[in-house]
Amino acid sequence: MDAQVMRDFVYGLFVLTGGHDGKNSGCIINTAIQASENPDIITVSVSKDSYTRELIQQSRKFNISILDEKAPFDLFKHFGFQSGRTFDKFGSYEHKAVSENGLYYVTEGTNAFISCEVDQEIDLGSHVMFVAYVTEAKTISDVPSASYSYYHAHIKPKFEDKKTTTGKKGWRCVICGYIYDQPDLPADYICPWCKHPASDFEELAL
Ligand code: FE
Repeated sequence: MDAQVMRDFVYGLFVLTGGHDGKNSGCIINTAIQASENPDIITVSVSKDSYTRELIQQSRKFNISILDEKAPFDLFKHFGFQSGRTFDKFGSYEHKAVSENGLYYVTEGTNAFISCEVDQEIDLGSHVMFVAYVTEAKTISDVPSASYSYYHAHIKPKFEDKKTTTGKKGWRCVICGYIYDQPDLPADYICPWCKHPASDFEELAL
C-alpha cells in the first residue's frame, strides 16, 4: 500500500478533550466529522493508546476544538507529541476555557468548539469510534479552519536538507519532523514524538 495515498485524504484538525474524576487531557485528531444533522451527530475516532480515549469512555462526553490556520506548531507539539498519562496537558496551559459540560476546550489557534455526549462506541481495531450527540457549539473566531494538508504546507516547520552531509543515512518523520539518526529504521518503529508508524518516515542524508 502506498502510504502517501492515506496522507492525501482531506481532513480537518482538532483538539479532542476529555475529563473524568478531576483528570483532564486532550489530543490532536483528524477524524471528527458531522455524521448527521437532524439530530446533530458527530463521530470521532481515537487511538486506543490515547489517554483522552480512556477519559471519554469513563465520562461519556468530550469536546472538539476546531484548529484554525493560525494554530502554532507548539500547540500541535503540546497536544500531539506527548502523552496525557505522564503529563498534565492542561495543568499550566493558559489557552483554555470550560464549556457547559465541565470539560476544557482550547481557545488559542481554534475557531470554534463543539461539546458532545457519547451515544455509541464502535471498536475499529487500532481506534475506537465514538458516535455522539452535539450538546453545545460556539464560534471563537472567524479564522479559517486548518486542513491536514494546510498543516503540512504551512504550520509544520520546513526541514531543509543539509547541503553538506556526513555520508550517513537517517530517517525523518514526515508528520512531525522527528529525525531517527540510524541507517536502518525498524519496521515496527513508532515515532517518539507523534506516535506515527515507520511508514510515515522518509529516508534522508544526515
Ligand atoms: Fe512524528
